[in-house]
Amino acid sequence: METQNELKKNYSWEQVGFDETTGYPFGNDLFYECQFCRQLIQAYPDKADRDKAFECSCKNLIIDADAGRIFISKPNSTKLYKRISR
Ligand SMILES: [Zn+2]
Repeated sequence: METQNELKKNYSWEQVGFDETTGYPFGNDLFYECQFCRQLIQAYPDKADRDKAFECSCKNLIIDADAGRIFISKPNSTKLYKRISR
């Protein structure tokens, strides 16, 4: 798995809007960025990683890929980005 810094510099990113009242977008090329700890968390991790728990270091973002659930404590302090290309 790529480190946070590799992710940020190896790809182009486009911010995507989301509405937490209708559900969080889910996809392999979508990453949530916590505005508190600035960690990027993949919305739908690669298959090999799917049994792991994904959360940012301050636990604002928690992604349970197995169950297909995304928990965000502070959606207003979270940004969603689409990974465009290498
Ligand atoms: Zn965080």
